[in-house]
Amino acid sequence: MRVLVAGAAGFIGYHLCERLLSEGHTVVGLDNFCTGQRRNIADLSRRRGFEFVEHDVVRPIELPGRLDAVYNLACPASPADFGPKALEIMDVCAHGVWRLLELARAAGATFVHTSTSEVYGNPDRQHHPQREEYFGNVNPIGPRACYDEGKRFAEALIVNYRRRYGIETRTVRIFNTYGPRMRRDDGRVLPNFISQALAGEPLTVHGDGSQTRSFCYVSDLVEGILRLAASDVSEPVNIGNPDEVSIADFARKIIALTGNRSRLAFVPRPADDPDLRRPDITRARTRLGWQPRVGLEEGLKRTIDAFGSDASGG
Ligand code: NAD
Ligand code: UDP
Repeated sequence: MRVLVAGAAGFIGYHLCERLLSEGHTVVGLDNFCTGQRRNIADLSRRRGFEFVEHDVVRPIELPGRLDAVYNLACPASPADFGPKALEIMDVCAHGVWRLLELARAAGATFVHTSTSEVYGNPDRQHHPQREEYFGNVNPIGPRACYDEGKRFAEALIVNYRRRYGIETRTVRIFNTYGPRMRRDDGRVLPNFISQALAGEPLTVHGDGSQTRSFCYVSDLVEGILRLAASDVSEPVNIGNPDEVSIADFARKIIALTGNRSRLAFVPRPADDPDLRRPDITRARTRLGWQPRVGLEEGLKRTIDAFGSDASGG
């Protein structure tokens, strides 16, 4: 197949391209390096079957030649960007998704979109773990609104595009994913904690650290995305690891695995930070035969090794 991956220079984009290339597909990577890394594209460019186009997806796109699938991963994803890049995020979730849908429609390609657990916002306790049927609890004007509402708009756009034009669409709701090649200064919890622990500095735990997340290793996520792309499931599907951990315990685990003696520094918690997050993966299990394989300790060891051996976390 010949496929387009928008957001190829990013963390998940790199791993998805790598896997597609290793399966023998031709991959056109596209990125504007807004939060991506040039070295990811340099490494992918050494592989047979990879071509790259530097482009902002909010601008019109034309891509000559056959295209079987469009994977859309183009969007800043770290809460640290929700302030400084708020309008760019809304733009890429609206115009960017629209442009890529048009491209997929013109090419007769399947459109595979990366949505997020953030569409559930700060889930209430009756909806824990989160199933795809949950409508969510999102503050439409809060500090995370650009991303949460942007991703919700994108899902609505995709479903209506499908209804109007009958194109094939797939939507994956990704829960916190981690692994090598996350940017060290990306601002998300895992690069922060690993960098701090490796430097022997205090780990900056927001609030009392009792809020929870469920972390999925990147190879498991990529497997889930590919199974979804190959399926006939047009409804959104949660892909994540249901192994839930408090952020304070997550910090302690990372300290233990690095073997350093950093302490925890409790710092103020950002507004609207979700209290709980854990995927119900029944749909992925039953419709895709998918479940995560890499446990938290194993995944963290691999990621810490990668961060330790390379300054940019790869
Ligand atoms: P990332 O920031 O590493 O990658 C995003 C990539 O998109 C970057 O390379 C960036 O330069 C590119 N990009 C952004 N705006 C663009 C534009 N206008 N034009 C072209 N390229 C653009 O983030 P990631 O963690 O790899 O996330 C990839 C996708 O998965 C995103 O859509 C994100 O919302 C989604 N997601 C990720 C997670 C996670 O835990 N990593 C969780 C939920 C959803
Ligand atoms: N967090 C933290 N310290 C940090 C960065 C994040 O305690 O240095 C917390 C954050 O408040 C949230 C969780 O870790 O409760 C996950 O944050 P992240 O930014 O990785 O992504 P989110 O799941 O909030 O989108």
